[in-house]
Amino acid sequence: MNMKRITIAKGDGIGPEIMDATLEIIKASGAKIEIDEIEIGEKVYLSGNTSGIADASWDTLKQNKVFFKAPITTPQGGGYKSLNVTARKALGLYANVRPCVTYTPFVDSKHQMDLVIIRENEEDLYAGIEHQQTDEVIQCLKLISRPGCEKIVRYAFEYAKVNGRKKVTCMSKDNIMKQTDGLFHTIFNEIGLEYPEIEKDHWIIDIGSARIADTPEVFDVIVTLNLYGDIISDIAAQIAGSVGLAGSSNIGDGFAMFEAIHGSAPTIAGQGIANPSGLIQGAVLMLLHIGETESAEIIQNAWLKTLEDGIHTADIYKSDVSSKKVGTHEFAQAVIERLGQEPQQLKVVKYKKTAGIQIKPYQKRVEAKKELIGVDIFVCWNGTNANEIGEKISPLTHKNIELSMISNRGIKVWPNGFDETFCTDHWRCRYKSLDGSSISQGDIIALLTLFNQHQIEVIKTENLYTFDGKIGFSLGQGQ
Ligand code: NAD
Repeated sequence: MNMKRITIAKGDGIGPEIMDATLEIIKASGAKIEIDEIEIGEKVYLSGNTSGIADASWDTLKQNKVFFKAPITTPQGGGYKSLNVTARKALGLYANVRPCVTYTPFVDSKHQMDLVIIRENEEDLYAGIEHQQTDEVIQCLKLISRPGCEKIVRYAFEYAKVNGRKKVTCMSKDNIMKQTDGLFHTIFNEIGLEYPEIEKDHWIIDIGSARIADTPEVFDVIVTLNLYGDIISDIAAQIAGSVGLAGSSNIGDGFAMFEAIHGSAPTIAGQGIANPSGLIQGAVLMLLHIGETESAEIIQNAWLKTLEDGIHTADIYKSDVSSKKVGTHEFAQAVIERLGQEPQQLKVVKYKKTAGIQIKPYQKRVEAKKELIGVDIFVCWNGTNANEIGEKISPLTHKNIELSMISNRGIKVWPNGFDETFCTDHWRCRYKSLDGSSISQGDIIALLTLFNQHQIEVIKTENLYTFDGKIGFSLGQGQ
């Protein structure tokens, strides 16, 4: 028999209870898997390992390439890093896939939905690059790359194609972040052309989220950036009825990780009452990924039949629809008893045997012609009057490179700012050549030397480039 080796971790809180229950179901389904167990989470963190996973465990993970994990508890404070964020980045798990489905009338929800959220997993504000450089202002760097966008958008379209989905919706905030979110939207439009059979649309994330909360049935597959995906996937799971009911996968080129979407629920740990359904859903996604299609299908249909029969854990129990309130182990036994049965009212699942989702490798483009045309010099200054700082800085010029404006938190305050604009101690001074011609790195150094000679504290610089003549920086408000 061709057994597939996977790595599992039982995690913290309710983790061991729901993992044991889920493994019993997997075993009873006849899935051909073998298991290596590693330890992750609180115990590892508290032993002094700030990443929550022992170095030796990475070898097991890398060897097996499939990781099925229960939730963990990240201790507060003390510089502990999120294991999920570390695993996603270290193993290149670029796509987070979360199916969000309602099971009414058996699980209470005001909605009908069957949507899949595909969230970019490695970039955006989650790069974790934050700096405080003045007393009043802290910044977080949002990094969006062309390969990152291409990979996730292509994955979303391939996912839709392989799973017979009809529409892919892009959500971004490119009306405000025209460069970063603008790139994501542009790439969605570009790659979308390769999938003429799939319907496409775009929503600004704020109204898109509101629409998910109100009318989720209008969505099919949603692809979005990391932070927005984090938020909308929890909204969608919550309005589907319970965070205890959904699983997710994290997919990379050669590696994948599967889990429940909820946390370790420490307040109910050890009582045997947690709902193992989220982890069961994670297991179904994992079995599909490794080609154990038959086991995935019988587990999913038995699980739907269990819900339909009203065998419910406390988190979804409702006296008018439920027939029996059960604990974690009893719920798993009810699923095992129903292996081979199908639901009568909920939709029976029939999975296609596929070779998984393959995306084309990223192809580097011919590099654009890049031209340096200016620099934003950020300074820390404790005054609040923009004209005062304008008078101080505008005489500092080099060749024909002059101060064109000063902004504070993105609002132009010099020249011709409003007295009403509130200013912090974090100022951006934009320098450009008068005729719009290129400048050199040496010119920037000369400018910085001038600032230094006049005892103005420079906290950072951002170069202003054009790419094939197209401006590669934001113009901002009032410019
Ligand atoms: P949580 O998801 O653990 O709990 C939120 C609420 O949902 C609680 O009321 C909990 O009792 C309930 N709940 C969650 N799962 C349930 C289940 N299977 N059955 C029944 N009820 C369930 O979120 P939290 O309280 O914010 O976080 C607790 C811990 O989990 C924290 O340490 C957090 O860092 C961690 N966490 C881990 C992961 C992960 O490992 N993937 C994800 C999220 C949170």
